[in-house]
Amino acid sequence: MATKTASPEKQLKRYEESIAQDGLRLTRQRKHVYGALLQQQDHPTAMEVFLRARPEMESLSLATVYNVLETLAERGLVRKVHLDSGSTRYCANNAKHGHFTCTGCGAVMDVPLLPGAELEKLHHLPRGYTVTQQEVSLHGLCATCRKNHH
Ligand SMILES: [Zn+2]
Ligand SMILES: [Zn+2]
Repeated sequence: MATKTASPEKQLKRYEESIAQDGLRLTRQRKHVYGALLQQQDHPTAMEVFLRARPEMESLSLATVYNVLETLAERGLVRKVHLDSGSTRYCANNAKHGHFTCTGCGAVMDVPLLPGAELEKLHHLPRGYTVTQQEVSLHGLCATCRKNHH
């Protein structure tokens, strides 16, 4: 299974199409917020997306950013990531992946699943159960933090 991420342009295009289907306009604000999220795939919180997008669009409010991110999540264009430390983070990577949180620097990175890996086979599910959603959360040290550790 390829874990390639669609290019930001392609993802933006897909969003445009999805919005158009509902007869909604792709407002400048919507486009700008999504663009800010795609810019850097580091799983920002809504506040971080806001701070990133705001300098180029002074009319933007935090509430708008929340709304846009919620719409994107409803459409399956971004994934909401809940890590133990509270705030919802947003991930624009559509490929199947887990998240690795570095306990040293706090970075949240995408880690692709191995080709052919099926989580259902890693767990002992009771008979008749099926997995509809998976969220893999790994914690550890990134290479840099590991080096600085000793
Ligand atoms: Zn991610
Ligand atoms: Zn680190």
